Amino acid sequence: MRPPHHLLLGLLLLLCLHAPPRPTAAADTVSPGNGLAGTAARLVSNNSKFALGFFKVDSESPNTYLGIWFHRVPKLTPLWSANGDSPVVDPASPELAISGDGNLVILDRATRSVVWSTRANATTSRTVAVLLDDGNLVLRSAFNASDVFWQSFDHPTDTLFAGAKIGWSKRTGLNRRLVSRKNSVDQAPGLYSLELDLNGVGHLLWNSTVEYWSSGSWNGNYFGLAPEMIGAVMPSFKFVNNEEEAYFIYTLHNDTAIVHTAIDVSGRGLVGIWLDSLQDWLVNYRQPVAQCDVHATCGPFTVCNDAAHETCSCMRGFSVRSPMDWDLGDRTDGCMRNTPLGCAGEGNRTGLGDRFYPVPSVTLPYGPEKVQAATGEGDCEQACLGNCSCTAYSFGGGICSVWRGKLYNVKQQSGASSDGNGVVLYIRLATAEVAGVETKKSGRISTGVAVGASAAAAILMIILGLMVWRRRGKWFDSKLGNAQGGIGIIAFRYVDLQRATKNFSEKLGGGSFGSVFKGYLNDSVTLAVKRLDGAHQGEKQFRAEVNSVGIIQHINLVKLIGFCCEGDKRLLVYEYMPNHSLDVHLFKADEAVLDWNVRYQIAIGVARGLAYLHTSCRDCIIHCDIKPENILLDVSFVPKIADFGMAKVLGREFSHAMTTMRGTIGYLAPEWIGGTVVTSKVDVYSYGMVLFEIISGRRNSCPEYFKDGDYSTFFPMQAARKLLTGEIGSLLDAKLHGDVNLKEVERICKVACWCIQENELARPTMAEVVQVLEGLSELDMPPLPRLLNAVTGGSPTSLRH
Ligand code: ADP
Ligand code: MG
Repeated sequence: MRPPHHLLLGLLLLLCLHAPPRPTAAADTVSPGNGLAGTAARLVSNNSKFALGFFKVDSESPNTYLGIWFHRVPKLTPLWSANGDSPVVDPASPELAISGDGNLVILDRATRSVVWSTRANATTSRTVAVLLDDGNLVLRSAFNASDVFWQSFDHPTDTLFAGAKIGWSKRTGLNRRLVSRKNSVDQAPGLYSLELDLNGVGHLLWNSTVEYWSSGSWNGNYFGLAPEMIGAVMPSFKFVNNEEEAYFIYTLHNDTAIVHTAIDVSGRGLVGIWLDSLQDWLVNYRQPVAQCDVHATCGPFTVCNDAAHETCSCMRGFSVRSPMDWDLGDRTDGCMRNTPLGCAGEGNRTGLGDRFYPVPSVTLPYGPEKVQAATGEGDCEQACLGNCSCTAYSFGGGICSVWRGKLYNVKQQSGASSDGNGVVLYIRLATAEVAGVETKKSGRISTGVAVGASAAAAILMIILGLMVWRRRGKWFDSKLGNAQGGIGIIAFRYVDLQRATKNFSEKLGGGSFGSVFKGYLNDSVTLAVKRLDGAHQGEKQFRAEVNSVGIIQHINLVKLIGFCCEGDKRLLVYEYMPNHSLDVHLFKADEAVLDWNVRYQIAIGVARGLAYLHTSCRDCIIHCDIKPENILLDVSFVPKIADFGMAKVLGREFSHAMTTMRGTIGYLAPEWIGGTVVTSKVDVYSYGMVLFEIISGRRNSCPEYFKDGDYSTFFPMQAARKLLTGEIGSLLDAKLHGDVNLKEVERICKVACWCIQENELARPTMAEVVQVLEGLSELDMPPLPRLLNAVTGGSPTSLRH
């Protein structure tokens, strides 16, 4: 699919129109007597990647800042600002110059004052300021480039540049941390920060005190709680801890990639990538994933709802305190009371005029106080009412909690709230506010906050970054894997996918939820486009897939390139796998036979992919439908786990809570049938079943095994027995003609027998499986699987010898 030339041309024109005016002389240096004056002047780094100059984020705003941005990104994105809290105010007449003492300063020529200075101790008065290729602004000796007195990398604002350090200099005590901006226009420091401690754990903090996210500690390769950053987000990064310093740093594979790593106004860490083809940022990674997990994100007296169109809303009886800030994304001031409390009124110190209004299905605010004396709901209410500073109470599980002053972090739970997380919070309001509505006393709850979309939809929206939706209707000339450095998912237009697949003419396969078609993006990229049908189920599949494989990357997981979500159309776009799925090779005799070595590598690869899903990504992902049809093979027969339509993403806190049965008969672990909780061990079971099929080249559920009600020939059973008696050679796929490594066959066979143990605790984890298959550790002889044993009519003892 090659974009017609006029479109490309149009795009180029657009680019030209939007590009910031090129400086007359693209100098990268400020020297004495040769400064930057006025808002049009700028420095450009030698490689043309970064620009430095005076900017206004919004032409309406009176504030002008000195800052650095990506020179080629037409949408102004400040990466650093010098004078965030002391802007030059209109009528601005700023100048950047080297002052007499050798410092770099901003002068306001209108007021004849120094607005900002590097305040460095320059040992020479001949200094220059240079904007380097990595975006670092350095003040150095004019004669010796390594004599640096000050650098912007030591004073980051909200962005972590590639090649810059975040963390500590142990010698000087300098702590480089990222601080959010106050709002989308005001570059003053906000309340959120991202800091590294001396152990190398990253923390997102509110007001430097309250932590709301942590990266986990550095384990040599990645941060324990944020392993998805590997590869997918920052191609190469490391934590360095020595006597002098403790810092984190990342670099880009490709210097031309435009990657923005920052903490946003709302307190979330993000990594965005600029896509020329979209003329916009694609946010690839955010932490916390849910906006409402950011401490105080909506400010006081608000309800945060990730599923709602507007995440933040005021509690009943409250209104936005600073509407202008609020609209610019700064919710620090939150909401304020419409009517003062009775308590506040003269002569009413008991607050008896106040009432309580129920806010149902919420998580409780930050910082409760327990009232031991209150043993019933009525007592609890009275305890709050009797204290003028008490603003809310909640009674649950025999415990009375009350809150004083501002209420933060009230989160709306999804409608059902059957998980017990959502409880009722009673907020204190002046009687006048609640007059006319049903309050606590009447015992009914008015639906104050409607819960629109499901939580799943919210998560999806967040992950894709709402921005993706805004881009619909534009042309996507997807330069895959180069401009975006191999990361990011693309929103496709339906018509483009229709064209790419020649109107869905070349069908590659299909299952119960849709069909997969071959498509061509351009000469070099072939696609597999999965079109989901069946409105409701399709939607679920779609979300499951984007939500799981869309946010993670691994060599053994099929790569999601993009998706299309237009009207009721749901499509997923994958990298095309030319060697089809594993079932074709194992079970269809006319195909060239996979040799043993390839089979063994496939077994290891699938194990690695699953181990990654289960343990390495931030949230545990259970695939739930491991079988040969869902294992695809690339050009070199590297296996890629596909079809995440059944996958379940579990937050760390609930690592085993699932109800509805998923999967395919023949690969289903017994606990699905037992109705007990299900864990990642269901994948281990299915994986074990696949291993048997890799050995035998036949389906375990092959009808021949079961003829005449004789199950003793059921392959996994036979395999377990033969393993014990040492006759594994006879188990092998005849098509291999005995051309195998017997040691490996035995190993796989052992692993498979352990994987299909009825007791999930007896099964190894996928990480252990990888170890064993790689020959790094050994397994004992497995017991015969009990359930299978029963099915096949044997008794455990008779089978031992
Ligand atoms: P379903 O939910 O319908 O099972 P899958 O994602 O498993 O969807 O795809 C169905 C079949 O389509 C696969 O078994 C495989 O044969 C083919 N297929 C899917 N994705 C690809 C791909 N990326 N490259 C090549 N073939 C694919
Ligand atoms: Mg499938």
